[in-house]
Order: sequence, then structure tokens, then C-alpha cells
Amino acid sequence: MSKKIYLDNAATTKVRKEVVEEMIKYFDEFYGNPSSQLYELGRKSKEAIEKSRKTIADFINADEKEFYFTGGGSESDNWAIKGVAFANMKKGKHIITTKIEHHAILHTCEYLEKFGFETTYLDVDQYGMIDLEQLKVSIRPDTILISIMYANNEIGTIQPIEQIGEIAHEHGIIFHTDAVQAMGAVKIDVKKQHIDLMSMSAHKVGGPKGIGGMYIRKGVKIDNFIHGGGQERGKRAGTEGVQNIVGFGKAVELINKNFDKHVEALTLKRNKLIEGIKSNIEDVILNGHPTMRLPNNVNFSYKYVEGESILLLLDMEGIAASSGSACTSGSLDPSHVLLATGLDHGTAHGSIRFTLSEEITDEDIEFVVETMKSIIEKLRKISPLNKNNAM
Ligand SMILES: *Cc1c(COP(=O)(O)O)cnc(C)c1O
Repeated sequence: MSKKIYLDNAATTKVRKEVVEEMIKYFDEFYGNPSSQLYELGRKSKEAIEKSRKTIADFINADEKEFYFTGGGSESDNWAIKGVAFANMKKGKHIITTKIEHHAILHTCEYLEKFGFETTYLDVDQYGMIDLEQLKVSIRPDTILISIMYANNEIGTIQPIEQIGEIAHEHGIIFHTDAVQAMGAVKIDVKKQHIDLMSMSAHKVGGPKGIGGMYIRKGVKIDNFIHGGGQERGKRAGTEGVQNIVGFGKAVELINKNFDKHVEALTLKRNKLIEGIKSNIEDVILNGHPTMRLPNNVNFSYKYVEGESILLLLDMEGIAASSGSACTSGSLDPSHVLLATGLDHGTAHGSIRFTLSEEITDEDIEFVVETMKSIIEKLRKISPLNKNNAM
């Protein structure tokens, strides 16, 4: 087998070694139930949880009491939407979100329609940006929640979060943002950016799967999510996944250490890959915003070819990436995000997302560009969609 080049870090990331080392202790050494406060083993677990909570809260400029552990990004999104909807339904039943949200947001909004809630889905432009004017005119007297993702997982576009937060607060509306992709890639300050609720996930930032977090600004009206014991201040019951919480905290600690350098290095690599593809392959479209984009996201559409075929050939070369329909695996519906940016179905189908990590070397990038060049040439020669092929 040739060298593996993993370029699907938006799907998940490798768990950092230091994270694993820290986690292991909480399986066999400090295995006490954090609710068992009458002996040391229990207290150790509780202390570990609170240490992680402080690390993560500090990282986003929140108070520790405003940060809650959840079962992942999807759970946090569900909690934010349902929790605000049911707690504020006497005030109104209107929610504003966008057409490019993660399915954890979109499907939750759809579910709420059963209970009489209405959702406005904001458009985005060709770069995946929302229009603040459209946001303003969409606000109604019964609007209770604005949920707009910080950065998009497919095309990497970063929204003007602070301005959105200001607009929400001028109207007394709760503002939630799904920051699962943004965390670790952009500087987040929940206070300065007027964020009331924010979803996070550990496995997108070098931590373990199945653990996430939610920032809930003090005073925000939101229902408890899991009813049971008193864990997470009674809002999210269930014995804490201590080892996962410890892993999440450690992952954030590591990101925080070299934040600016890390982002700078990733951005250079990203730009190198974008330039390499642009200058070596014809008829490509860069999806997402040219500058307001995640430092590790490269998403192109390649005309006249199918994303799935590209992925198969990339896999044969040891390269892992993702296509414009990977999120709904098994289904051939093109990505709702790419369609929202105005791409037609055919072009959307020929899209490939590369999401880099710091482990990717310049040589890897050159290899990926060369490989893509030959794959696209090969596929275009046999493509019935290619107008240059005589039928
Ligand atoms: C991955 C992702 C989620 C879901 O997070 P999980 O922890 O996998 O449930 C939600 N939103 C965005 C933007 C994501 O990229």
C-alpha cells in the first residue's frame, strides 16, 4: 500500500497522541463516577471535568458556568434549536436559519414544523455568504431564534458572525451558531461576537468522537435537554463521559498553544493546493469564498466528471477526500450547500472537498495536484458529459 494522505479533516480528525495518553488514565486509573463526591476516586473525575470545562470556556471567552458538555455537535445543535423553541414558544414560533446549515440544524427545524414552528431559510450568494439585509427583513415579531453556522463544513465560508449577533440582539432575538468547523480555525469570542448559544464538537479538533459542547450565555431561556440526574447543572443528565471530556479539554489546550502559527501554516498549505489545482486543471470552479474561508478548506467543482468516480480513483492512490454528496452517503442527491450557491446538479456532482491538517507536507500537496490532474484528464476522456468527446 502506498502512503496514505488524509484530506478529510472536516469529516473527522485523527486524535492527537497527547489526547489519547491523557484519556487512557480515565479508563483504568481514575474511573470513579464524578457524582460520587464522598471518596477521592469520584472527586478526581469531577476535578478532571471541571479542568476541561475551564480550558474550553477560556478558549471562547466564556465563563465556566456557561459551558456544558454534550454528546457531540449534532446533539448541541438539537439542543439549541429544540431547547430555545420549546422554552420560548409563548413568545413566538418563528426561526431563521440558512439553506447551508448542517443537517443537524435543518432536520431539527423540519421536525419542529410538526409542532407549529415556522422556519425561514436564508439564501446565500455564489460564495456561500448570507445577505445581512435579507436577514433583517426576515425578522418578524414572533421570531425567537436566529441560527447561522459560523463556518460551513463543505465550502468553508465564514459568516459575519459579529454583525449577525448585533442584529439579533438589537431585536431581542436569541442567536445560536454552529461553530463545529470554526473552532480551532478562527478566533472565537462569544462575548464580543454577541453569541448566545454555540455548538462545538471534539472530534473535529483532534479530540475523541461522541463528545461535544454547548455555550449557553447566562440568562438565555432554553429548556433542559436530557432529563434525569443533576449532571451538567441539571440541563444534560447522564453520567459524564469523563475520558471523552478529558480528551476534549486536552485537544483544545493543544490548539490554543500554537493557534496563530497553526492557522498560518494551514492557510499557506491551503493556498498552495488551491493554486496548484487552478493552474494545472482546466474548467474548475472554486467553491466557497476566496478569502473568508476556513484555513484548511479546498473545494472545487470539476466540469464533466462525477465526484464519486474521482473519489474511487483518489482512494486507489491512498488519498482520502470527500465529494459533493458525501454527507448523505448512499444517496446521490447533490449537496444542498453547493446547490444553494447556485451550482447546477451536474456541476455540483463533480465537486471534491479536500480538508487539510498540519501533517500534510508540500510534497503531499504536489502529489495530490499531479494525481488530480491525471484523474480528471482520464475521466474527461471517457465522460459523456464532455462536449469535446465525439459521440
Ligand atoms: C461535524 C459537524 C456537526 C456534527 O458534529 P458531530 O459531533 O459529528 O455530531 C455539526 N455541524 C457541523 C458544521 C459539522 O461539521
